[in-house]
Amino acid sequence: KILNQIHFIMAGNRTFTMIKPHAVADNHIGGITAMIEAAGFRIVAMKKTQLSAAQAGKFYEVHKERPFYGELCEMMSSGPIVPMILEKDNAVADFRALIGATNPANAEEGTIRKKYAKSMGENAIHGSDSDENAAIEGAFFFASIEQY
Ligand code: UDP
Repeated sequence: KILNQIHFIMAGNRTFTMIKPHAVADNHIGGITAMIEAAGFRIVAMKKTQLSAAQAGKFYEVHKERPFYGELCEMMSSGPIVPMILEKDNAVADFRALIGATNPANAEEGTIRKKYAKSMGENAIHGSDSDENAAIEGAFFFASIEQY
């Protein structure tokens, strides 16, 4: 019951993101985290790490039937990434608005993808699409002792 209450209090307040390899390689960690903080998100957890192709495959398992899955896993394991857990009211929806459309050609002015995405695949940043996935994806990278 207490766990349910904690879950209720936390629901909607956290999301998960990763700065993708091309954006890390191009020295945009600072620029992207500045946009995230300026938009009112608090960085709860953050690190620099690199996925193996198998780990990327596990992270993106929901997309395994999609035609771009192989390319996506290869791209996401091609260099270091910066995963983060972020906190703000209405975090998932507000962060999806901040990153912009998946295809940078459709990304709105002022969004992270408008500024930093290079293509549909190399679109600078990931953002969870639901509270449930935010919790699963955050736990994929961070232990509870790393979340402050
Ligand atoms: N992606 C791709 N080709 C596509 C669709 C998606 O390479 O046609 C990549 C892209 O990097 C995207 C990721 O796969 O960010 C996950 O796709 P999703 O549809 O979940 O988009 P997102 O939620 O990241 O906007």
